[in-house]
This record gives sequence, structure tokens and C-alpha cells, in this order.
Amino acid sequence: MDLIRTAAELKAATDDWRAAGDSVGLVPTMGALHAGHRSLIQRARSEQDRVIVSIFVNPLQFGPGEDLDTYPRDEAADLAVTERDGVDLVWAPAVEEVYPPGVDLPLPDPGPVGETFEGAARPGHFEGVLKVVHRLFDLTGPSAAYFGEKDAQQLFLVRRMTVAEPEMGMTIVACPTVREASGLALSSRNARLAPEERQQASCLFLALTEAAEHARAGERDAQVLVALMAREIGGTTLARLDYAAVVDEATFTRAATIDAPSRAIVAARFPGARLIDNLLLPMPGR
Ligand code: AMP
Repeated sequence: MDLIRTAAELKAATDDWRAAGDSVGLVPTMGALHAGHRSLIQRARSEQDRVIVSIFVNPLQFGPGEDLDTYPRDEAADLAVTERDGVDLVWAPAVEEVYPPGVDLPLPDPGPVGETFEGAARPGHFEGVLKVVHRLFDLTGPSAAYFGEKDAQQLFLVRRMTVAEPEMGMTIVACPTVREASGLALSSRNARLAPEERQQASCLFLALTEAAEHARAGERDAQVLVALMAREIGGTTLARLDYAAVVDEATFTRAATIDAPSRAIVAARFPGARLIDNLLLPMPGR
């Protein structure tokens, strides 16, 4: 496994692979790798000739007062994971390699969806996400890039960006959310939850599954599902609800009724970390 730190080396390596006719899978991460990340890596490994994992805590997607400085970092452990999972190349750059001073990089516009939910809670977040993802795509020219459904709004916006730029000629592969037995979605930030918070953190998944059960039983009024989710999370002592909503899967805008594929999304603040989760709702009777 190659560990490289410069943009030039990354580009050269992937150019060589493409010239040899190899397909290239890219898994963008911020490190502190867990089983959720590994599911993306393993999927890429099973589908592509070459697999790149990027490890970069992107300062542009953190707002002032957010946890950029305390975001969990453990490069040695990450490299052991990527080695074990058969990754060909890890790119772990410094900030200046990603954003060379004086170079104007493309700044894809997240549009109105980028200002809702995560974008409302974290102004500028999706501009930062799309900028770094676009840069990664430019440098690596992947056949496919692997993203987790865990970050559904990010996935939606990245996918829309690539649809708007078909010349990139790549596929976005969505991978299911990996959860603990309690239902808590794995996240690098979970490490910062105290034991009692961690126990209560499954309220996000409980809220989502409650909404899904009611949808399956025929409830089509999104407001009813939102109220159920808000009550579940609101009734959890250490959680502060940020939002609970049902969005249309095709537009990521609020749905009034569940008559097209829809996703329940939630965010809550715990003392140690802010958590998000989501679940595709079953259509009635399915
Ligand atoms: P991050 O390191 O948090 O930026 O995440 C890197 C990628 O891993 C993103 O595409 C995430 O959606 C994905 N990811 C994070 N947690 C999970 C999880 N629990 N299950 C599946 N994918 C995940």
C-alpha cells in the first residue's frame, strides 16, 4: 500500500492506473476509520481494480466554533485498517496540497438544498464538502466514488454535482449505514460520547424506526411522522433535537405526504457530539 501526501503524486499514480486500463475506486474520508468506512472500502475493493482512500479533515466544511481542532485523528490506526482491507493507495495530504495557495479551484454550488438541514445548522458546510470532493475527483478521475447513506444530504448533493458534470464520467455508489447493535450509526464523533450519552444516542435510530413502522402501517402524513420522531428525541434527557423531517428522496426537500420515496432525517446535539441519522421510509404495505 502506498502512502502519499502530495497532489502531484496522487495524480501521477492514478494517471498510470488509468493508462493501464485499471478501474479506480475512490473512498473519501476524514479518517478515524471505523466499520462504516470499512464497508465503503470493502465495496470498492470488490468492484474496482484499484482503490484509493483519502484521509483529510477538510477545514472548509467546519464552521467557526465547530470541532475542527478536536476532530478525532489517528493516522497510524487508519493505515493499519486500510492495509488490512487491501487498499492500493492512501492519500493523506496537508491542507496546502488540497488547496494550493493562489490557485482558484472550482467551487460547485450546493444550491438551495445546501442551505437546509445540515446546511442550515452548519453554514458553509456543503460548499466546503463539494469543493473538496470536486478536487478529489479532479485529481483521481475515479471510475466510481463510494459514499455512505449515513450522510444522506451530502450524498444527494455530491450525486447532483456529478450529474451536472457528466464529463467526469463516474458513478457515485451509495453504501448502507453501518450501525451498532443498539441501532446507533457508527460515526467518528461517537468516540466523544460519555457512556450515558452513548446509551441514549440510540434515540435517533429509535425515532427513525418508529417513523418507518408508522409509514409501513399506512401513515402518509409527514407531519405525524415528524411529531413522533421529535417526541422520541425530545424525550431523551441528554439529547437536544436539532431537526426531524421527512424529505422527498428525489429533491431532498420537505415532503408533506408519503406518496413517493421519502427519507426521514434527524439531527440532535448531545453534550459530547452532534449526531445525525436517516432512514428511507417504506411505502405503505411494503
Ligand atoms: P467521514 O469520515 O465522516 O467524512 O465519512 C467518510 C464516508 O464514510 C462518508 O461517505 C460517510 O457517509 C461514510 N460513513 C460514515 N459513517 C458511516 C456509517 N456508519 N455507515 C456507512 N457509511 C458511513
